[in-house]
Amino acid sequence: MSDQRWRKRVLGNRTLAPETLMMGYGYDPFLSERSLKPPVFHTSTFVFRTAQDGKEFFELAYGLRQKRPNEEPGLIYSRINNPDLEMLEDRLAIWDEAEGNLTFASGMAAISTSLWAYARPGSVIVHSGPVYGGTDFLLNRILPQFGVVPVGFPAEGGTGAMEEAVSRARGKGSIAALYLETPANPTNGLVDIARARELADGLKGEDGKRPAVIVDNTFLGPLFQTPVAQGADLVVTSLTKYVGGHSDLIAGGCSGTTAALDPIRGMRTILGTMCDPNTGWMLMRSLETLKLRMTAAAEGARKVAEFLRGHAAVASVWYLGFLPEEHPDRALFERQCKGAGSTFSFEVKGGEAEAFAVLDRLEVIKLAVSLGGTETLASHPAAMTHSDVPPDETNAPRHHTRSDPPLGRNRKSGRSHRRSRPGVARLTKAPDRGGEHGRLDRVRAAD
Ligand code: PLP
Repeated sequence: MSDQRWRKRVLGNRTLAPETLMMGYGYDPFLSERSLKPPVFHTSTFVFRTAQDGKEFFELAYGLRQKRPNEEPGLIYSRINNPDLEMLEDRLAIWDEAEGNLTFASGMAAISTSLWAYARPGSVIVHSGPVYGGTDFLLNRILPQFGVVPVGFPAEGGTGAMEEAVSRARGKGSIAALYLETPANPTNGLVDIARARELADGLKGEDGKRPAVIVDNTFLGPLFQTPVAQGADLVVTSLTKYVGGHSDLIAGGCSGTTAALDPIRGMRTILGTMCDPNTGWMLMRSLETLKLRMTAAAEGARKVAEFLRGHAAVASVWYLGFLPEEHPDRALFERQCKGAGSTFSFEVKGGEAEAFAVLDRLEVIKLAVSLGGTETLASHPAAMTHSDVPPDETNAPRHHTRSDPPLGRNRKSGRSHRRSRPGVARLTKAPDRGGEHGRLDRVRAAD
């Protein structure tokens, strides 16, 4: 634990809560003209006091030597490191209960840089489905062009489907990673992170190496799910969503152990996929209200989901909080998640035309793809974010306006009952500001 006041995480015998630490962790006002808030370090490069300093900073940044005890990596160049990003990354690591964090220009930059760091020609990535449309494209269209083999399994198939995919993958090459998106976009399907880690441990080779378990935590993170505590090596998050929280920036993060992050850090330096200092500063501002925003949005989402569940035009609401006791994911939800979050899908009776009619009549809610901001958004994933994803590859419900949890899972077949649903729309609920509850125009749908 650090002696520096600005890096204290324990006061007396009290561990400080993440929401308290977000106000100043990692920042010393006395290094910045006593400014209460950190400045935006709008600079491409940093001046070395001596040539020897420059040499030593590069040696450390390029992994040419080990860090000396208590040595702080020196600032070099903003593609490698920057004070705003270092503070932000320290704070995000606290939320993710991880040793470290790296920030990126987008969620996709975080996901792709992480996968580039682990995958090699001939290696296999086992992944859950559905996944966000961009991730699906990367896994199934781009990485195969570089000799990386994707092996997918349906989240709704339970651990049996994941185990079967791992056995299938073993025959195809060395498994580089188990990549899980849980809850899945757009179905809210859940994947057992602890079981994925057990499977990865079972694949450990004589050299001690095993596949990395990588979890996309965008839908519930960082407040309502902590994948590292469940056994994940790396947690990727689109910071564009709940962490940014105001629909005014694009960014991504990857948290994990220092060792697991090392190859990703190197890849980020060379690809140049890092976050910029101004966005980093805005994310730090957003982190100060993260818990308040996510808690309020979750409360509002439950009210909206309850309203929709009782609506005559709605066939079903896929909200995680409605998972029935007898549903195979109920126990997993209670073990793995700390809340249902505020992004869900609902199925409008009829088909695409009926779902579009609902979307086209929205007034306060905006028809847009994204989630986690202060406003309520609604979209139709099958026609929008996931339009490129063949239903057979993902078992994704095809027509959503964000808002439901995956119900009827057929464990035997591992196939979803919910394929090709033309009326499904998805919602993300904005933080509830009080007043009348349950009106559709208070709902936010997300991407
Ligand atoms: N992961 C999930 C689950 C998403 O929903 C998204 C975007 O919607 C992404 C990753 C990609 O994030 P970004 O748009 O910040 O690149």
